[in-house]
Amino acid sequence: MSTVTPTAPSSPRRPADLDDLRRRVAGTLHTPDDPTWDSVRSPWVVNIDQRPLAVLEVRDAADVQAAVRWAVDHDVQVTAQPGGHGAGDALDGVLLLRTRALGSIEVDLQRQTVRLGAGVKAGELLAALDGTGLTFLAGSNPDVSVVGLTIGGGMSWFGRAYGLAAHSIVAAELVDGLGRARTVSREDNPDLFWAIRGGGGDFGIITQLELRLHPAPAVYGGRLFWPLEQMGEVLRVFRAVTESAPPELTLWYHSYRFPPLPHVPEAMRGQAFASVAMAYLGEAEEAEHWLAPLREVPGLLHDLVGAVPLAELARIGGEPTDPTPNLDTSTLLERLDDDTVDRLVAAVGAESGSPLAVFQIRHLGAAFTTGSASEGAAGHIDAPYQLFALGVPAVPALVEPIRAGLDRVELAVAPVSSGTTAPNFLGAGGDVDRCWPADVRARLRAIKADADPLGTIRSNRPVLHTH
Ligand SMILES: Cc1cc2nc3c(=O)[nH]c(=O)nc-3n(C[C@H](O)[C@H](O)[C@H](O)COP(=O)(O)OP(=O)(O)OC[C@H]3O[C@@H](n4cnc5c(N)ncnc54)[C@H](O)[C@@H]3O)c2cc1C
Repeated sequence: MSTVTPTAPSSPRRPADLDDLRRRVAGTLHTPDDPTWDSVRSPWVVNIDQRPLAVLEVRDAADVQAAVRWAVDHDVQVTAQPGGHGAGDALDGVLLLRTRALGSIEVDLQRQTVRLGAGVKAGELLAALDGTGLTFLAGSNPDVSVVGLTIGGGMSWFGRAYGLAAHSIVAAELVDGLGRARTVSREDNPDLFWAIRGGGGDFGIITQLELRLHPAPAVYGGRLFWPLEQMGEVLRVFRAVTESAPPELTLWYHSYRFPPLPHVPEAMRGQAFASVAMAYLGEAEEAEHWLAPLREVPGLLHDLVGAVPLAELARIGGEPTDPTPNLDTSTLLERLDDDTVDRLVAAVGAESGSPLAVFQIRHLGAAFTTGSASEGAAGHIDAPYQLFALGVPAVPALVEPIRAGLDRVELAVAPVSSGTTAPNFLGAGGDVDRCWPADVRARLRAIKADADPLGTIRSNRPVLHTH
């Protein structure tokens, strides 16, 4: 995998004067001599050793603007990282903004929209929408920020019904690379509007986002678990159901190897499973019709399927919310044929000895295929499945075995892999050219050059700086 090489501005006009920054902002500025430094600089993906110049916990949108203007004056790069789920590299010399204080949520039920601050987490927005009959296009984890998830494309449980989340962006307020506050919508700054709809965080620091909401009067879902020995059969039935699934139904296949640790529920601790997770936009009876062939697969051990209040959507995926080390890989799959299933069973099945904690295949299709690149950088996804695999290098000795395990997965799917992936799933240090087609990349670069001519804004997917 090639390495992303961020460019820092070449020769600082003045040394970065952090006292000057402290005077300009109301938020809390942390520097390497703070006792709390190691916790504030660390991202959610804890094995990425970030060494920024300083960390600013902004108090409000004015702080964001003051920080970017300071960064321009001092030839420093600046990045927003609410929590660090998508941390990309070491951020040497970069001013890191923590945006959690931008926590406003204003739901407009009549217009079916929400305006939210850049610090709002997915779980917080889902809780605010619970009972309204409307949802935003949430993914699997409640702890990611809504802004980070959405501007990187946003692959939601509800994407088969409503498309990539980025296409639900209605408007944004952002501070561009010269420190100018810009309103962004289809009418105002349409180029920036197009770029943040799937092009990531390279074009400015967003302070507010407005999203279109979508109907979700009832959600039914959860997970079914079998012994990992059943992987081949479960995967084949999963594929058969996905081939005729309606847009309201989303299925993700998983192989899990849970560690023998206390935070894992006792019934699963230290064990390995094949599993299917499901989200259905509708009532139990219709959903169960689609689940019936899966329920017939012998050996079902655990059944966690039922009605899901929106506030508890994260229960479906059951993912960790505490900071975690991880190494991962992902790619879109053009098909899932029998040979691929057999190779995957050999790579991560019960007899494989694989050290990977999670292996996942998401079913895409339906509305994922409908977005247009003229509407936003996210475009659409033709591939019917996405593969994602992850190891947890809890100790350094696990790094090499996990890398080898990821290589085995990549090899297993090589004949059916598109070679591309969604920006949100590109692993740290991955090649950003894999995220967008060449024409989209060219337009993103032109918009970046206009909105941020000095290269002050630094995202985890820098559109200008590839291998
Ligand atoms: C456990 C887990 C589950 C996930 N599940 C899904 C899923 O189901 N679907 C999906 O699509 N993705 C998923 N992701 C990927 C996730 O959506 C991306 O990593 C996303 O970028 C995380 O956003 P964040 O703000 O939480 O992370 P951060 O690392 O804090 O931010 C990521 C990047 O977003 C940009 N950014 C954040 N805030 C701003 C801002 N205010 N202005 C400008 N740029 C900004 C920056 O470039 C930043 O580097 C998952 C990730 C994890 C770790």
